Amino acid sequence: MPHAHTVKLGTKLSLSKLDPARDDGLTKEEAKEKTNHLAKEIEELQELMYAANSTALLCVFQGADTSGKDGAINKVLEYVNVQSCRVASFKIPTAEELAHDFLWRIHKQTPALGGVTVFNRSHYEDVLVVRVHSLAPKHVWEKRYEQINEFEQALAESGTVILKFFLHISKKEQEQRLLAREKDPIKAWKLSVNDWKERERWGDYTAAYEDALSKCSTPWAPWHVVPSDHKWFRDLCVAESIAHALRPFREQWASRLETIGSKARAELAAYRKSGGS
Ligand code: AMP
Ligand code: MG
Repeated sequence: MPHAHTVKLGTKLSLSKLDPARDDGLTKEEAKEKTNHLAKEIEELQELMYAANSTALLCVFQGADTSGKDGAINKVLEYVNVQSCRVASFKIPTAEELAHDFLWRIHKQTPALGGVTVFNRSHYEDVLVVRVHSLAPKHVWEKRYEQINEFEQALAESGTVILKFFLHISKKEQEQRLLAREKDPIKAWKLSVNDWKERERWGDYTAAYEDALSKCSTPWAPWHVVPSDHKWFRDLCVAESIAHALRPFREQWASRLETIGSKARAELAAYRKSGGS
């Protein structure tokens, strides 16, 4: 039974029924040991994926301020080869971005075959912050759920494995993290008055997330709700989901590498036979 909750398409999600402080009875040490084990597996799988050059991995991270998007992403970067991995962060759209359809800036950042891209926020902001703050009329953002599903389906059919993580923290935990951030000279730069203002809209964001996750958790791009009050449990959930998603490809990638290797060997043999070194 996986630790993260995978949302079922079309079923009404109720985030208040999912405990953000869940730890499944594991201690911090036990969870870290499991995560390290999975990290080794992911490292190996990612190397195969890179060499086979037939599949890409896209990990999307969403969650409230302080939910741990940066921390979780840093952790994922530890598992993969930096040469084939990129992070794309999506902030308030620029004038040029706003002059295009909402997926324009997103599509440009999707991973090429063999690569890994991690999204820090994403196209989901266009049905979250945009909905909560009425930055676009309802008839515009309402259509986006379907547009997102079709966009993600096109990516998946072109070889991209898509995993989406909602980092689920409690309102109380967020308050503690915001207050701790204020006291920490190293982390205070991350503070923004906006974090406290957005917090006042907690209920609206929860409703927007529940809709986005229910409407857009497809078989080709599932949403995972990650209990994130404990950072070590969060990291375990994410690592487990990535390993689980890549594992079924192992044979396919290995046999592709075998084919590519045989071809290279045959070419080399022919070259030598013709008098080359
Ligand atoms: P941060 O992730 O803390 O650096 O903040 C980035 C800010 O950009 C957040 O407040 C997001 O809600 C906001 N943002 C990201 N994408 C969009 C979007 N499509 N429309 C409006 N605001 C956005
Ligand atoms: Mg912020």
